[in-house]
Amino acid sequence: MPGDAAPGPMEWGAVPLGMPPLRPKHGPGLDVAALPPYLGLVSSPTEPSRTPDFLNHDRPPVPDIVVARGVQPFHLHRQPVRGRLVRLGPLADALLTRHDTHPAVTALAGEALALTAGLAAALKFRGSFSLQAKGDGPVPMLLADCTDAGALRGYARAQDDRLAPLLADGAAPSAAALLGQGYLAFTCDQGPEMDRYQGIVAIEGETLTGMTGTYFRTSEQLATHVHLACAQTAAGWRAGALILERVAGDGGIGADMDREAEDEAWRTAVALAATLTDAELLDDALPGERLLHRLFSLEGLALDRPRALSYGCRCSRAKLAGVLAGFGEEDLDHMAEEGTITMTCEFCNLGFRFDRAELRGAEG
Ligand SMILES: [Zn+2]
Repeated sequence: MPGDAAPGPMEWGAVPLGMPPLRPKHGPGLDVAALPPYLGLVSSPTEPSRTPDFLNHDRPPVPDIVVARGVQPFHLHRQPVRGRLVRLGPLADALLTRHDTHPAVTALAGEALALTAGLAAALKFRGSFSLQAKGDGPVPMLLADCTDAGALRGYARAQDDRLAPLLADGAAPSAAALLGQGYLAFTCDQGPEMDRYQGIVAIEGETLTGMTGTYFRTSEQLATHVHLACAQTAAGWRAGALILERVAGDGGIGADMDREAEDEAWRTAVALAATLTDAELLDDALPGERLLHRLFSLEGLALDRPRALSYGCRCSRAKLAGVLAGFGEEDLDHMAEEGTITMTCEFCNLGFRFDRAELRGAEG
């Protein structure tokens, strides 16, 4: 159970760890599942790769984007309601265009980014908060994470050959169709010295919003309302989220309300939130404060301190070298192609090349 470092008002349930292997075996004897899920091995340097330039540098030239008011937390005065408005602005485009995925897949990744930023902002933690969906559909992996400082990253891995039949009828496939059967996990990782909190549910629902609702109902038993949107606009890809949470009446904001009045206040807030359109959520020209005032000004809207979001991949040559150092000599030999090991950070879609001869494997 969470100790005193437990993140925020979301209660983290039991910790069903032991996720299925994340990657298939690569070569004889090498279990690539030992790699973090966002790292890929480029199996052959001669095969065409999505990776633009193989880097020999320490840090890839990733966009330096900070959205100062990326997350606007708020609460409704004397009502059992709090929430966050998340708008990634140009950060959505910078993160999502690292990958040349089908728009349906890109939109799903963008929703995951906005959701992850919005949930992370509600927690008190040091480290990273992540969403991971793993299923048997044409998008077998969806991953997004956000640090306590608002560094955000994410991607969706798609299998184009399996995606094609789904796209054949022209309609945009649902998140359920893209992900298939599997699980959705939310993890708060506070580093090796700290407990890891994780909640896992089966993927259930047509949309990522629906799946998140299932998660909160079953794992957190917290009444929530989530609106996610991601689309390609004239300004590029945009993603946003509006998240409402019902907070406990006892000792909370709604302490002086009776149960019935609290229920009514919650229903009113959800009904107002439901009038928000995707277009409003994604409109750069409509400031977040104004949007929230339009929805909740009659309900005692109080804005809390906004939080910044930034382009969040922390990959570096040094970090990947550290990952490789965890493998034995034999594993490194299997990874190498013509004397070179190339690893891809799938968040950034950038490759790092290592000379096998310069690497020393871990002691067996
Ligand atoms: Zn990266």
